[in-house]
Amino acid sequence: MSSIFILYTGGTFGMKKTKKGLVPSSWDEIINYLPAFKNQNYFDSFKQIDFTYEALEPVVDSSDMNPESWNKIAEIIYKNYDDYHGFIIIHGTDTLAYTASALSFMFNNLDKPIVLTGSQLPIFHPRTDGIVNLSNAIYIAGHKSFEIDCIPEVCICFNDDVLRGNRSIKVSTNDFEGFSSPNFENLAYLEQNITLNHNLIYRGDKEKFGLQPKFSNNVVNVTVFPGYNPSALIDIVRNQKIEGIVLKTFGAGNLPKTSQWQDLIEACEKNKTIIFATTQCPNGRIEIGQYASSETLQSTCVVSGKDITSEAALTKLMWVIGNYPYEERHDILSQNIRGEMT
Ligand code: ASP
Repeated sequence: MSSIFILYTGGTFGMKKTKKGLVPSSWDEIINYLPAFKNQNYFDSFKQIDFTYEALEPVVDSSDMNPESWNKIAEIIYKNYDDYHGFIIIHGTDTLAYTASALSFMFNNLDKPIVLTGSQLPIFHPRTDGIVNLSNAIYIAGHKSFEIDCIPEVCICFNDDVLRGNRSIKVSTNDFEGFSSPNFENLAYLEQNITLNHNLIYRGDKEKFGLQPKFSNNVVNVTVFPGYNPSALIDIVRNQKIEGIVLKTFGAGNLPKTSQWQDLIEACEKNKTIIFATTQCPNGRIEIGQYASSETLQSTCVVSGKDITSEAALTKLMWVIGNYPYEERHDILSQNIRGEMT
C-alpha cells in the first residue's frame, strides 16, 4: 500500500478553451477525466494506492509562478511530508524546470520522490498526453506499490523520461517529448519496462529532511550576443540594484575582448555582485581558461556554473543570495549541492 499526495497547480494539463485562450480549470472539473481517480479500481487492479489531492490557490498558467508560489508549493509538501510515500505536482510546462530546480535547492536530505509532471495537450483532448504522464508519475511516486526503487529526488516525469529536475530544460512547445536533460542521463526510462539508472540517483546525507525557503529577486539573467555593450548592466551594478548575474557566455565561457566587460567585472568586484557564468549552449560546460577569450572571467566575483542549466543557475543564485551572506555565496555556488552540476 502506498500513499501519494497530488498537488494540482494548473498548466495545460487542466486547461480549457476560452475566448481569450487556454486557462486552467479547477481540480473538480478535471478529475472526471482522469481514469486513475474516476475509476477507483484503475490502480487497485495492480495494488492499493491511497491518493490525497490539493489544488494551489489560485491555479495558474505556469507563467505566473514566482518565488512566492515556489514557497507555497514547498510548504504544502513540507507540512504533509511525513504522511505520504511520494508527491506529485501537476504543473504547467513553461516554467516547470524552474520550479523543479527551485524545489531541489529548498529541500535538503529528501528521502521520498517529488515528481513534477504536466502535458502538452489538456486532458480534455482525445489525444492528451496528460493521462500517460500522470500514470507514469504515479508509478514513480508510488514506487512501493510497484516494486520500483525509490528515487528520492525532485524529478520530472514527462513522456517516457524521468529526469533530474535541476538538470532539465523545456525543449519543445509541441513535441510530447517536452523535456530533456542535455548534460545528465535519465534517472529512469518509462518504456514497456521501467528501467532505473540506479548509479545516478542522488542520495543526500542521512540527516534530517529540511526546508530552506528564501529566494532573492535581486538577480538578472543576461545573454551575451555579438556587439552587446554591457554599459546599462554596469550602471545597474554600480547603483547596487542587483546582487547576482547569471551570465550566459559564448561556448565554453568566452566574452568579447572589449574594455566594457572588464569594467563590468570591476563594478561587480566593488559592489559585491556575483557573476554565475554559464554557457548559452544547451549541451556542454564552462571551462574558464580554455580560450584566451575567457580571461576576463578570471576574477573573484565570478563563479563557474560548469555544466548547469540556465534554470538551475538562476534559481540556485536566487536561493544562495536569499539564504547566505556574501562571504559564503561563492563557495556554495561553486559546489555541487543537489546534483545540479559536475
Ligand atoms: N502555458 C502553459 C503553462 O505553462 C503551457 C503548458 O502547461 O504546457 O502553464
